[in-house]
Parts: sequence; C-alpha cells; structure tokens
Amino acid sequence: MSKGRFGTYGGQYIPETLMNAVIELEIAYERYKNDKWFNRELTSLFNNYVGRPTLLYFAERLTKDLGGAKIYLKREDLNHTGSHKINNVLGQTLLAKKMGKTRIIAETGAGQHGVATATAAALMDMECEIFMGEEDTRRQALNVYKMRLLGATVHPVSSGTATLKDAVSETMREWTNRIADTHYVLGSVMGPHPFPTIVRDLQAVISKEIKEQMLEREGQLPNAVIACVGGGSNAIGAFHHFVNDKSVRLIGCEAAGRGIETFDTAATISTGKIGIFHGMKSYFCQDEYGQIAPVYSISAGLDYPGIGPEHAYLHDIGRAEYVAITDEEAVFAFEYLSRIEGIIPAIESAHAIAYVMKLAPKLDKDKIIVINLSGRGDKDCAAVARFRGEEISDE
Ligand SMILES: *Cc1c(COP(=O)(O)O)cnc(C)c1O
Repeated sequence: MSKGRFGTYGGQYIPETLMNAVIELEIAYERYKNDKWFNRELTSLFNNYVGRPTLLYFAERLTKDLGGAKIYLKREDLNHTGSHKINNVLGQTLLAKKMGKTRIIAETGAGQHGVATATAAALMDMECEIFMGEEDTRRQALNVYKMRLLGATVHPVSSGTATLKDAVSETMREWTNRIADTHYVLGSVMGPHPFPTIVRDLQAVISKEIKEQMLEREGQLPNAVIACVGGGSNAIGAFHHFVNDKSVRLIGCEAAGRGIETFDTAATISTGKIGIFHGMKSYFCQDEYGQIAPVYSISAGLDYPGIGPEHAYLHDIGRAEYVAITDEEAVFAFEYLSRIEGIIPAIESAHAIAYVMKLAPKLDKDKIIVINLSGRGDKDCAAVARFRGEEISDE
C-alpha cells in the first residue's frame, strides 16, 4: 500500500501551505515512534496519569440477561478525563513537545476532545487554543468552562453550521497561519496523512491490552470486538491488534440518529458516498450536489459527517462490519447498562451496547464478545433525560 493510503482512501488533500507542517510531523513521528525514551515516557504517562491498563471487565449480569455470548467490557471510561481520547492527546502532545512546539491547537465538537487537549496542555505546560462551533459552545457550556479552567482559550467558530466540521476546518486554517511553534492535536483517525496512522497507533494500546487480558483470562481470542464509530479512533484502537486474526469479527456501530432513511443521521458507511474532505479521501454524508450534508445524532461524539480512511478500507475489503444504531436504541442501551451493571456508559458507547443486545442472544454461550466502552456517561445524563421528556439541570 502506498504511503498514507488505506487502499484508495486516505492521502493528503491539503493546501500547499500545510504541506510543510505535515511533512515535519511525519518525519518527527517516524523518528520517535520506535524511540525507547519516547515510549517509556508515554507508557509512564499512561500508567501513572491516565490509569492504564484499563480493566477488562466480565459483565456477568449482562451476559446472563441476554442469554448468549459471554460479554466483556473494556473500561476506557475509567481513564482520566473519562474516555479513550486522552490516549491520543497525550501521545500527540508529547510528540509536539519533542518537536520543540510550545503551542497546541485542537477542534472539538461536544468538548470532550477539547477538555482532554486542555488537560494535556496543563500537564505539559503548553499554550492551548481550542476551536469549537458557536452552536456547540452554547450546548456544552460546562465543557467550555472546564477548558478555560484548565488554562485554554476557547474560540467559538461561527462559519457554516457552527458545529464540529466547521471547527475542524477552522483549526486547519489556524495551523496554516502559525506552523512554526504550533501542533494541531487532531481528535480522531481522520484528516491528512500522517494523522490517521498516528492516532491509530496511539489508540492501539486498547487492543494490545484486550488481547493480553483476554489470553490471560480465557486462554483464547474473543470472537468479536465491537465499538462505536464517530471518526473511528476508539474503534480502530480496539480493532488494530486483531486485524490479522481473521477469526475475530470486528464490528463498528455508527449513529443512525432518527434513522438511516431520514436526513437526521450520521451513519457515514450506511448512507455516505466516497468523497474528499478535511484532507482525506473516505466516505462522507453528502447531499445531491456532493456537498457535505448536515449530520445529526443524539450523541455529540458521533456527530461527524465522515469516517476515518482505514475504516472505509476495512469496510470495502470486508474485514470489518459496520451497523447503524438509532438514538432510540442507544438511549435504551444507556438505561439498560446503567441498571444491569451499575455502569453509566457514554451515549456514544451505548451504540455498541445496543448492537450487542441484538447480537449476543444469537450467539452460543461459548462465544466471547468484547465491547469497547469508550467513555463514561455523566456528560449525557441531561440529554438522555430530555430525550425522555424530563428536564434536569446540566450541573
Ligand atoms: C469522541 C468520542 C467518541 C467518538 O470518537 P471516535 O474517534 O470515533 O472514537 C466515542 N466515544 C466517546 C466516549 C467519545 O468521547
């Protein structure tokens, strides 16, 4: 496969002014990715700051209730800042520091990636600026407060639909303006090469741990690994070390929103077409003119009109399966896991739970499923309550 490509997908569809920045990043990453000291430092941050390795938890009550395959939860929700995002952010910020950068910038949708980036900036003493759709700054006021508390500056973006895709575009523009001292901490396995590879490698710690923990616990590989997919970073992280184990089914759960037959959806593989946007070739939700379509999901973290290029490739070659889960199904799973295991999942992760609720009963009891529980659900309680017609305060 040619450099920075996953089959035909990926690539570097960017303005010339950004070429030097991504080349500099690629050279630095090639140098540090196998560097003993870099990896020691990163592992130490993972172990002592994030709380890795995260638990692989056998969900016994969930398993019994669904009455089929044995279900394990990979507890990325227990990471510092409450999701898998910190894995990527700490790796990129450490790399930026090695590159001599003093300032990091990032896009954010719901604010989870922004909070993780502001956290890493505080820890590593970097200047930090976050770009966030104006609409999202209103919907997610608490996360805006957290980012400021952590020392970051938050810039509301008012172009386009004033949501995540516009925040990504604005952050790329800002990077173009100030490359010398600035690194763009991209939040998922998307954008121009080398981002999809860097973010995947940093999140691959998830599948590395799952494999080790599963072999120790069960003496075998799981039969399926299941994760929710927005841009696709927690999913590719959970899949990576199993891609060559053909016996392991890899299943990504996209957000169908109000249904893939409606316009209120973010299910990129199910409804999208091949296109080029944000520096990469992949699948995107598009309108009849090929313009990027507005997307919708109850889950702000899955509300992105594209998908990482490696997922597009894994889909095309049939190595991974992608299914769409509606708001209604995800909310039901959110409530169900809370009740049955005492674990409130992120509404994103609840999309993966919802699919397992359909799949597990159809599998024999000797089959094993791992769900990547990408984050915790505290942030989603107000939205789920509203979905059920109940108003509670955000705080
Ligand atoms: C951001 C987020 C996601 C979606 O991002 P991916 O890159 O697809 O992983 C999923 N779950 C949680 C908890 C998130 O915060």
